[in-house]
Amino acid sequence: MYDLIVVGGGPAGLTSTIYALRKRLNVLLITKDLGGKTNFRLALPWVEDYQVIKGLEIINKFKSELEYLEFARHMEPADKIIRKEKGFIVKTRGGGDLETKAVIIATGTRQQLLNVPGEKEFIMRGLCYSALSYAPLFIDKLTVVIGDGDLAQRSTAELATVAKHVTLVCPADKLKVTNVNEKLKDAKNVTILEGHQVVEVKGDDYAKSVTIKDKQGKISELQADGTFVEMA
Ligand SMILES: Cc1cc2nc3c(=O)[nH]c(=O)nc-3n(C[C@H](O)[C@H](O)[C@H](O)COP(=O)(O)OP(=O)(O)OC[C@H]3O[C@@H](n4cnc5c(N)ncnc54)[C@H](O)[C@@H]3O)c2cc1C
Repeated sequence: MYDLIVVGGGPAGLTSTIYALRKRLNVLLITKDLGGKTNFRLALPWVEDYQVIKGLEIINKFKSELEYLEFARHMEPADKIIRKEKGFIVKTRGGGDLETKAVIIATGTRQQLLNVPGEKEFIMRGLCYSALSYAPLFIDKLTVVIGDGDLAQRSTAELATVAKHVTLVCPADKLKVTNVNEKLKDAKNVTILEGHQVVEVKGDDYAKSVTIKDKQGKISELQADGTFVEMA
């Protein structure tokens, strides 16, 4: 029986596993990959590699420690965790039943997708889900944020501090009331389009425009150096 099973090999799971190893616990990391979402980063035609600190570089030390300690990792999805009287059983995709005294679930979060043509094609190539991370790369650029809640509005406010223009495409009829509403309405480089749906993302090597539809069905196109889906 393990002392601890950690499910998920992103920054949270890797850190937990390494610290458990350092405390000499009998620990196993069960994961689909090492690095999790830090394996992805937004590619932009005007940004060179040396200009950004990659998440993966930051956690590489932890990652390499685990790559070396083969006995402490199991590269397979965990499908089910069953609570027992004393501890847990973690069932893996390959049919393994692994017993442990404790479990840390570090499987991360999943972004909410737009589910429109072009989205999958341009993910991380001009289109992404974290304006708060990438806003500083959009100095004097045209940007589009999609969403109507708190996250979309905070993302718009963040981008507005550096971008030439931010268009907030709000699928709902009215923007949700938040404490940045007024700031956005006053900002000279922000346009808010309420009641508009995104129908397509277009581009070449990178996303370049967002096609939207208003309530009357009128289609228009917004040029965008960066498109941010912020619908959480
Ligand atoms: C493009 C991009 C840029 C980002 N930029 C920043 C940034 O600049 N600053 C910042 O703070 N954050 C940033 N983030 C967010 C940051 O990467 C995440 O917050 C971080 O990766 C979350 O770590 P985590 O360990 O909680 O989850 P994740 O990184 O999502 O890792 C989850 C892990 O669980 C595994 N897993 C999931 N389900 C199972 C299962 N059933 N069985 C086994 N394994 C499973 C996955 O394979 C993965 O290894 C960015 C994210 C993305 C995508």
